[in-house]
Amino acid sequence: MSAATAVDLDTSTLEAQVRGELIRPGDESYDQARAVHNAMIDRRPALIVRAANVADVIAAVNFARDNGVPLAVRGGGHNVTGNGTVDDGIVLDLSPMKGINVDPVNRVAVLQGGCTWGDVDHATHVFGLAVPGGVVSTTGVGGLTLGGGLGHLSRRFGLSIDNLLSADVVTADGGFLTANEDQNSDLFWALRGGGGNFGVVVSFTFRLQPVDMVIAGPMLWHLDDAPAAMRAYDETLANGPDELNGAFAFLIVPPGPPFPEELHMKRMCGVIWSFAGSQEDADKLLAPMREIGPPAFDLVGPMPHPVLQSLFDGIAGPGMQQYWRADFFNELTDEAIAAHVEQGSKVPTIFSSIHLYPVDRATGSVAPDATAYSYREARWAEVIFAADIDPAGNDARKAWVKETWDAVHPFSAGGAYINFFGDEGQDRVKASYRDNYTRLAEVKKKYDPANLFRLNQNIEPAA
Ligand code: FAD
Repeated sequence: MSAATAVDLDTSTLEAQVRGELIRPGDESYDQARAVHNAMIDRRPALIVRAANVADVIAAVNFARDNGVPLAVRGGGHNVTGNGTVDDGIVLDLSPMKGINVDPVNRVAVLQGGCTWGDVDHATHVFGLAVPGGVVSTTGVGGLTLGGGLGHLSRRFGLSIDNLLSADVVTADGGFLTANEDQNSDLFWALRGGGGNFGVVVSFTFRLQPVDMVIAGPMLWHLDDAPAAMRAYDETLANGPDELNGAFAFLIVPPGPPFPEELHMKRMCGVIWSFAGSQEDADKLLAPMREIGPPAFDLVGPMPHPVLQSLFDGIAGPGMQQYWRADFFNELTDEAIAAHVEQGSKVPTIFSSIHLYPVDRATGSVAPDATAYSYREARWAEVIFAADIDPAGNDARKAWVKETWDAVHPFSAGGAYINFFGDEGQDRVKASYRDNYTRLAEVKKKYDPANLFRLNQNIEPAA
């Protein structure tokens, strides 16, 4: 890291260039502006640039580079490792850049880099359209998309990157490029899964998909039924159409509505289903799940797509001490199920869980080398996370995450979804990109040879 920090530097030129807010230590809004989603991350940047437009982004990138100051780019601030902030460096906060232009006729949306998925769903749902995104409305489009982007629509329409048509990027040299299949196609390939390594994406152009009402909601089972539920879940997805999606979870039932009192604070397993079709067809597809024995809780019914998209917002809010690990899975063998049930019976808090998200069908139909995201043959992306407001139990909760990962990893595909794990070193990053890593390192060398954009799952420039 440079010996100089932004506090030692003359920021008068930057002040003259930037239309957005500059926030420094001591400013009233500093503590709020420096906070990221994971409360375990407590970093003190020297300067926060809240970009109002592309010119601000270019000015901040040039300033950080010319002064040798570490630069953190922040979209929604959800990254568990806290890559959206940095000690003694500059945070380039894109969150004021929320412009969205929806073209419902051509089914295209152009979004600025600071949008969250809630912003996008709000703008597109009115036309009965959606961009396939994440399952919590406050997550940033930027970080989620650049890592891949999985959610309730992944089996039907692929990842967010599979719906990305073009991106406008501010590069490390302060340049401005458009990346798509026709222009700077090497950069476009790398952006689709390579994270924030290649520049600041100031604008994303997405294909819109027809999504309006969905049949969705949770089913829960007692842990005694977990092996049968997991097996039936696997078969239901395997036999079901692309329109059916379901994420499996081990959890502690939150103590409040809509859950009945007798289930409050019980460790259980469950599926959050979503289906594009009729209630009648959903009931037929989900019949095997109800035949295991009636679910202890069953609230699958019609809802507008944005309601599904914000169903977890209450349990996934900011201010939580978070620790995550991850894996991809190709299959759920009996041994894998047994390991999951064993560890799922020890979920530490209501904010902690093991989630399995399907990434087959449309997601799996893309070739592994067609985009930087490599694990196209995997059926699930798993995330194991422990979270709570109280830092006191951090060590015990981290231990549960690590123990769970150790127990299930032998049954995994090897690598993990880069947006689902923390700071676990280069080997884990390489394991997650596999054969695509070498090409990513070459693209990195071309667009960011000095590794200015290094606060991410870092791809080191090729030698
Ligand atoms: P940030 O911390 O702001 O950024 C993350 C990384 O991306 C940083 O390295 C940053 O520099 C870079 N970055 C962000 N924006 C840009 C940009 N415009 N240009 C260049 N680089 C940029 N993932 C899923 O795929 N599906 C989910 O359903 C899902 N749900 C989640 C729910 C919660 C509550 C949380 C905390 C995370 C979830 N994730 C999900 C993981 C999520 O994809 C990652 O945390 C992701 O990094 C968040 O992006 P962000 O923009 O909010 O984060």
